[in-house]
Amino acid sequence: KNIVIAIDGFSSCGKSTVAKALAKKLHFVFIDSGAMYRAVTLYFQRNNIDLADNDAVLEALENIHIDFIPNPEKVQIHLNDEDVSEAIRTMEVSNYVSEVSAVKAVRTAMVKQQQSLGKKRNIVMDGRDIGTTVFPQADLKIFMTASPQVRAERRYAELTAKGEVLTMEEVKENLSHRDHIDSTREESPLRQAEDAIVLDNSELNQEEQLDFVVNLIKE
Ligand code: C5P
Repeated sequence: KNIVIAIDGFSSCGKSTVAKALAKKLHFVFIDSGAMYRAVTLYFQRNNIDLADNDAVLEALENIHIDFIPNPEKVQIHLNDEDVSEAIRTMEVSNYVSEVSAVKAVRTAMVKQQQSLGKKRNIVMDGRDIGTTVFPQADLKIFMTASPQVRAERRYAELTAKGEVLTMEEVKENLSHRDHIDSTREESPLRQAEDAIVLDNSELNQEEQLDFVVNLIKE
């Protein structure tokens, strides 16, 4: 049987950094489920899909094809054969992705794809509902947390390094906006699975975080 490691938590807790490093170390496939919701959001924005129009949403979902291109260094994602790895990281997408992710039909479609991605291979998947909804039987579940200040600083550094012009206040607002919607939506809201192990990384560097998880696996 293949192995599934689920890493969930609020926005900008460093989930994907740990997930990526872990996948590399274990030779597992890393799947960034947030990138999938971001790709859907990009498609919806480009095509002016009204979230309240269920038929339009369903039609759009049928026209969306998402692929992950294996790349150990970065998440490379294609939306209908276009590389959107950078395009999905803008504030424009970040400011709307939680609204799109709260739509039931969107979640149904993404969860189905995520489950099929994890059927045949050993994977590390990060997201919000991986340990609760996508893979309730995951072999290991991690719930990551970090202080709001640390999270905002990390995200700010990440975005400004890429040349995005914005203030710390805007970053904080976006994080709390997404946290709120993600944890209060009706469909599979973000919450800690009962059998998840908490990893608070506010005070840990990347190596210490990886060690923490690797030690759990050894146990
Ligand atoms: O992981 P990332 O911060 O890129 O995710 C972007 C957004 O996608 C989240 O704020 C959330 O709204 C949505 N998401 C989700 N379920 C997941 C992963 C991401 O709803 N499993």
